[in-house]
Amino acid sequence: MFRFFNDKITQFVLFLSFSSLFPAIATRTPAVPLTEITVDIQNIRFLDAGKGSHVTGMAELKKYFQRFGYLSIPENNFTNLFDQEFESALLVFQKKLGLSTTGKLDYDTMKVISSPRCGVSDKTKAHSIHVTKHYAYFYGKPRWSKSSPMKLSYAFSPYKIIDYVSLSDIKTVFRRAFSRWSSVIPVDFTEVEDYSSADIKIGFYKGDHGDGESFDGVLGVLAHAFSPENGRFHLDAAETWAVDFSVEKSKVAVDLESVATHEIGHVLGLAHSSDKNAIMYPSLSPRTKKVDLNIDDVDGIQALYGSNPNFSYNPLLESDISSSWGIMNIERRSAIIALMVILFSLCL
Ligand SMILES: [Zn+2]
Ligand SMILES: [Zn+2]
Repeated sequence: MFRFFNDKITQFVLFLSFSSLFPAIATRTPAVPLTEITVDIQNIRFLDAGKGSHVTGMAELKKYFQRFGYLSIPENNFTNLFDQEFESALLVFQKKLGLSTTGKLDYDTMKVISSPRCGVSDKTKAHSIHVTKHYAYFYGKPRWSKSSPMKLSYAFSPYKIIDYVSLSDIKTVFRRAFSRWSSVIPVDFTEVEDYSSADIKIGFYKGDHGDGESFDGVLGVLAHAFSPENGRFHLDAAETWAVDFSVEKSKVAVDLESVATHEIGHVLGLAHSSDKNAIMYPSLSPRTKKVDLNIDDVDGIQALYGSNPNFSYNPLLESDISSSWGIMNIERRSAIIALMVILFSLCL
């Protein structure tokens, strides 16, 4: 049944699979397990819906927007009406995610909504982002406050770990991820064995793991980390984590190094960026490697911690250009669309 893009998008109706689209919502509504959400393909029709539309499933979409910081209406008040509040939230979402601010559930917007992403809310005071900067901070602009030269330790939970990737490979991946950040700011990261005393505590968790931010199974929310100086760094153990896509062939494999690099940004104090090429952009497609810091990430983190004296911009700029990853990449987006979206040709 799956078909892919056609230039004449109007020939298609975009139907979304709730079991894929709203796993994050399920974490807030445990009484409705994903497997019990049925898809009524006649009614779940969002594409190009705008203000005033009544669309079955809209209430679930509003929960998604609430989950990630765009709507504050209590869940039990959500209706299927595309109302003024939802339009306002949608416009903020589109601006925050670097989309065209159409105020409609257009194709590109639905594509982003259906992508796997970080579980950290997009809500920051930087919704009024500087015109040319896209990075953002958490409320209060928290950062680690240890004296300079700053040294932060990290450790892996001895119990909350996955067994299908070797610990050695996991440690190598994290060492590289931490080094990307330490190469641009005057902060050193050191792995230690004592989990309880480490500044940054890394673990793989399943479902509800006690911090109010349940994981949701395969894809959906991939990981989350807490702002400074908390140090908790959690990955969804239900994902198929990969350190090498030539070895891990799963279509839902997620690159551990890419997610690690992103979450370290949160640990240090960066919130989500609206720059699609930034490490701190909230979504990441399966089988996608995105590990190079973007200028936007560097500007954001250096504004918090200052610059590493050995850092120079030029190599990074080259890397930035060569790693022009983005959700607009047709080949890469095909993977996530294949997983998340069902397209039926109407052949009008
Ligand atoms: Zn994030
Ligand atoms: Zn957690």
